[in-house]
Amino acid sequence: MCIFCRIASGELPASVVYEDEYAMAFIDIQSINPGHVLVIPKNHAASLVDLSPEDAGHMMRVGQIMDKALRKSELRCEGVNMYLADGRVAGQDVDHIHLHVFPRFEGDGFELRIDPGSRKQPGREQLNEDASKLRKGLQKI
Ligand code: 5GP
Ligand code: ZN
Repeated sequence: MCIFCRIASGELPASVVYEDEYAMAFIDIQSINPGHVLVIPKNHAASLVDLSPEDAGHMMRVGQIMDKALRKSELRCEGVNMYLADGRVAGQDVDHIHLHVFPRFEGDGFELRIDPGSRKQPGREQLNEDASKLRKGLQKI
């Protein structure tokens, strides 16, 4: 069983914030800011694409609930970031899909660094070609 499945089953300890039949939210042990939670579906799936549409939708619904709770809590929260890494190359370390939800405030030091060289500005022709390729992908779902 994976580490998050073991947390979901109660075998491993976690600081649980929210739980229902299909999902759970608990504090990340390496929080970016206090109140950083991970929302997980209780059904194991390594990738977002392996989740049922219901579980995927529910994970975001619980993310929205966590966003609201953070803003109502005593924790410092002036904004919220959500982050999901789907795949090793995308930065996923735990192979049970999870949504990071964490509070942000002025001067918290968190920064998403994007190498300026990694942002391209293709022309309309290229954008249309990329959209066409993606539409073909859509037809294969
Ligand atoms: P990823 O890099 O896959 O997007 O995020 C994995 C997250 O899981 C990391 O932020 C890491 O701190 C957190 N994490 C890893 N193991 C545990 C654990 O046993 N308990 C909790 N609460 N968080 C964990
Ligand atoms: Zn799992």
